[in-house]
Amino acid sequence: MEKRVIITAALSGTATTKEMAPAVPLTAEEIAEDAVAVVKAGASVIHIHVRDERGLPTMDTGRFEETYHAVQSALKREGLDAVLNLTTSGASGGTAPLELRLGHLRRLKPEMCSFDAGTMNWDCSLVFENTPAFLTELCQCVSEEGVKPEIEIFDGGMMGNVEYYVKNGLLKSPCHYQFVLGVLGGLEGTVKNLLFLKERLPEGATWSVTGIGKAHVPMMLAGLALGCDGLRVGLEDNLYLSRGVKATNAQLVARAAGLCLLAGREPATAAQAREILSLPAREMV
Ligand code: ZN
Repeated sequence: MEKRVIITAALSGTATTKEMAPAVPLTAEEIAEDAVAVVKAGASVIHIHVRDERGLPTMDTGRFEETYHAVQSALKREGLDAVLNLTTSGASGGTAPLELRLGHLRRLKPEMCSFDAGTMNWDCSLVFENTPAFLTELCQCVSEEGVKPEIEIFDGGMMGNVEYYVKNGLLKSPCHYQFVLGVLGGLEGTVKNLLFLKERLPEGATWSVTGIGKAHVPMMLAGLALGCDGLRVGLEDNLYLSRGVKATNAQLVARAAGLCLLAGREPATAAQAREILSLPAREMV
C-alpha cells in the first residue's frame, strides 16, 4: 500500500477572527471540540495556537496549559488520539519575549512544536521575528524537552538555516518540514516553488505542505503528486471551502482526506503519524 498521509489541522492561528470565519475555535472548549471533529474527519496532528479572553493571540503559558489539557481530555473521552503540535511563533509576528515563546514547551513537553526557520517581512505588515538567538534557544529547548520540531519553511533561504543547525548538532536529523507557501513576503504557492523546496530536502527528511488562501487546494494536489508525507489544512491558513463559502476545520480536513483517497493514499492515524515522524509510540495522548 502507498504510504499514509499525515493530515495536520491548523485550527485557528493568530490572525483569523470570528468575523472572518465564524467557525474558528478560540476558547479552550471550542478548540477541544474542534480537535475531536478534525480527528474524526481524518486529522492525526493538531497544530494549536491560543487566544486571550478578548480573542487576541497570546503566548501565555497558562492559556496553553488550559487548552492543551482540554484537548487531551476531549480526545480521551471520545477514545481518539492525535499528536499535539504547539506553536512557538509568538503572539503577533514573533514579538513575545523569548522565554514566553518557550514556556509552554518547558511546562507541557508536547510531542511537537512549530519551528519557524527564519525572519521575514510578513504580508507587508509586520516583521515575523525568528532571530538567531531565539532559534538557538528553541533548538536547545526541543532537545532538552524531547519535543519534535516541525520546521516551517516560508522562504527558500530558510532551508539553509535549518542545514546550519543540523550541521552544528543543534537540530536532530531526520527533520520534519512544513512548507507554508503563499504568504506575501515568502515563496508563492506554486508547483515550481514546491518542487524547488522538495529538491532541497536532505536525505531522510519528511515533509508536508500547506498553501495559504487561494493556494490551499493547488498545494494539496501538488503535494500529493510529489509524494508528500503530509498535508496541512485549517482556518489558520484558509477560510473558504469554495468561492464565497466559509469553511469549518472539519470540512477542510474531510476535503483533504478525500483528496488523499483520490490519490490512492489513506490518511494516517495518530499511531501511523508517529511512525512516519520517528516519534516514540504511545497509547493515547
Ligand atoms: Zn501556526
